[in-house]
Amino acid sequence: MLVPNTPENLKKCICTDCPTFEKNLKGIKEGLFCARGKTDSSIEEDECLCAQCQNDEEYKLTARLDLMERMILKLNQFYCSRGPAGGST
Ligand code: SF4
Ligand code: SF4
Repeated sequence: MLVPNTPENLKKCICTDCPTFEKNLKGIKEGLFCARGKTDSSIEEDECLCAQCQNDEEYKLTARLDLMERMILKLNQFYCSRGPAGGST
């Protein structure tokens, strides 16, 4: 697990400000998908704010990726629909 599932990290999560969250998860108390993995709700992807999050910088979620992973595969985004940072679950 790249990002520990802790209350401190949940406080830094900016998912609730995100258009994808607004569209699909409004009113649901969820977040920290980079640590907890994807939601059970179905997600129509819009914008993702994860790359601007303090946790992204702290745990080097974008910094550790090469250009193809960033630009094409977008491995630093949409943890709510694609699963946690670093893969699996
Ligand atoms: S990287 Fe994304 S999912 Fe993880 S805490 Fe930040 S905004 Fe939330
Ligand atoms: S993981 Fe990304 S797309 Fe999903 S709610 Fe958080 S910021 Fe938005």
